[in-house]
Amino acid sequence: MQKSGRLSDKSIELIRECGISLSNGSRKLLSGSSNFPLEVMYLRDDDIPRYVADGVADIGIVGENVVAEEKAPVETREKLGFARCRLSLALPKSESYEDLSDLEGKRIATSYPGILNDYFSEKGIDAEIHEISGSVEIAPGIGLSDGIFDIVSTGSTLVSNGLREVETVMDSQAVLVAPPEMEQEKEAILSDLLFRIRAVKKSRNNKYILLNAPNDRLEEITSLIPGMKSPTVMPLADKGWSSVHSVLNENDFWEVIDQLREKGAQGILVVPIEKMIV
Ligand code: ATP
Ligand code: ZN
Repeated sequence: MQKSGRLSDKSIELIRECGISLSNGSRKLLSGSSNFPLEVMYLRDDDIPRYVADGVADIGIVGENVVAEEKAPVETREKLGFARCRLSLALPKSESYEDLSDLEGKRIATSYPGILNDYFSEKGIDAEIHEISGSVEIAPGIGLSDGIFDIVSTGSTLVSNGLREVETVMDSQAVLVAPPEMEQEKEAILSDLLFRIRAVKKSRNNKYILLNAPNDRLEEITSLIPGMKSPTVMPLADKGWSSVHSVLNENDFWEVIDQLREKGAQGILVVPIEKMIV
């Protein structure tokens, strides 16, 4: 995983949430685990796809953008849902832009020449790609290029540099990569790890919900929160009421809560789930 940068903390957090303890929090080159057959190597993110392809590491956590740029023969085994960003073309605000042909003959600064070159070839655009390693967003301002191709998340960096996003070329997030073929023993460890990662990912998207429902509206209320199999319904000491327990997806959250209240649910509690195995 990445030694220091935007992926580091989230990568370590994911491994820890999988119940895997890592020694040596200070991040030397390597740390081992006392309760899972895993050793973590901390590397520059750009090296990760190649190291995995070469067998220096067995698996890696890295941005999809870096996998695409490095073109190493590795497979994405799981999307991890963090470090979400996009790679976009941007021009100075004052430049007019209608379509890609406006980039014909322009100089574009980027740290991702491979992805951009593939994109321009596919679209039949003849532009000059100028590779620079950092602070790409200032290139047009200092006359180094006409436009840029770079990572965007909120777009605020672009705005503060007087730039405007004109095309999104790819979406990216952190992924777990592995070589196409793995020894059986390692594949078994990986599938154990992936099982845990999926349980953590699922739990992040779901909440445990408890509420009190009047018995005469129980059916309507339980149908709104079907949960993993079906909700738990228990009688309250107070006659005519039941306690309902279920699991609710974050994406539907507010809408469902509103409907539950309309149907007479009271005392709604929502609590985080640590792990979720379906
Ligand atoms: P270096 O290799 O020089 O350390 P980098 O840009 O590769 O620089 P980071 O800035 O740590 O390193 O980014 C690591 C990864 O995180 C990127 O490859 C990308 O996948 C993702 N990323 C980068 N910027 C953002 C952002 N603003 N929001 C979300 N994810 C991002
Ligand atoms: Zn990098």
